Amino acid sequence: MIVAERKPFDEIRQLIKGYKRVLTVGCGTCVAVCLAGGEKEVGVLNAELKLSQKTEAEPAGFGEATVQRQCDMEFLDEIQHMVGDYDAILSMACGAGIQFMAERYPDIPVLPAVNTVFIGVNKDVGWYEERCKACGNCALGVTGGICPVTMCAKSLFNGPCGGTNQQSCEINADQPCAWHMIYTRLERQGRLDNILQIFPANDWRNQKPQTLVQPGYEERKASE
Ligand code: SF4
Ligand code: SF4
Repeated sequence: MIVAERKPFDEIRQLIKGYKRVLTVGCGTCVAVCLAGGEKEVGVLNAELKLSQKTEAEPAGFGEATVQRQCDMEFLDEIQHMVGDYDAILSMACGAGIQFMAERYPDIPVLPAVNTVFIGVNKDVGWYEERCKACGNCALGVTGGICPVTMCAKSLFNGPCGGTNQQSCEINADQPCAWHMIYTRLERQGRLDNILQIFPANDWRNQKPQTLVQPGYEERKASE
């Protein structure tokens, strides 16, 4: 899932400064699971904002809504009837959801209330760890299910580097060397030959905005 965290409260207050009617919109998927921007977090943020506005000469009015996914246009339609009543939208979705909202409502400022941090896993309640950088060329089939791009400090597809030291990464003794982990996993699976496979220079598809159309949907995309 995409993991995010709420922006510092003072930064959010600065972002909405000058707007008199603000609609805070949550997203019911990734950011809800990681406790950053779901329905509950929308309620908490609006309550804090209302409280803080009591000292303002002209306090703003706040509305709230949460859609299933802000990165999906059909769900944005659900708040269509509300948007006209507000002069700014405070989005609690990930960066993709915020941008889709801004595209959907180009006449209204759409402001981020969360920082999108990484693609990761849920280790425990409130505890998340990064696992993928969406490199566009997944190596996990060769690397024993351990991501070299995310877990290696240098994102090496061919490792380890000369700094690997007693299972640790050279940048920090507390950080395991990704390529040591890959070696150990492959050895355990009897697939150690994989470690000799040389990855060619990666086509960093994530260096530009990408589009992905699943097979069977090309015609539909072309007709748009
Ligand atoms: S190799 Fe690329 S796609 Fe696969 S997990 Fe790592 S960053 Fe993600
Ligand atoms: S020591 Fe290991 S994890 Fe650290 S940069 Fe080198 S290969 Fe990557």
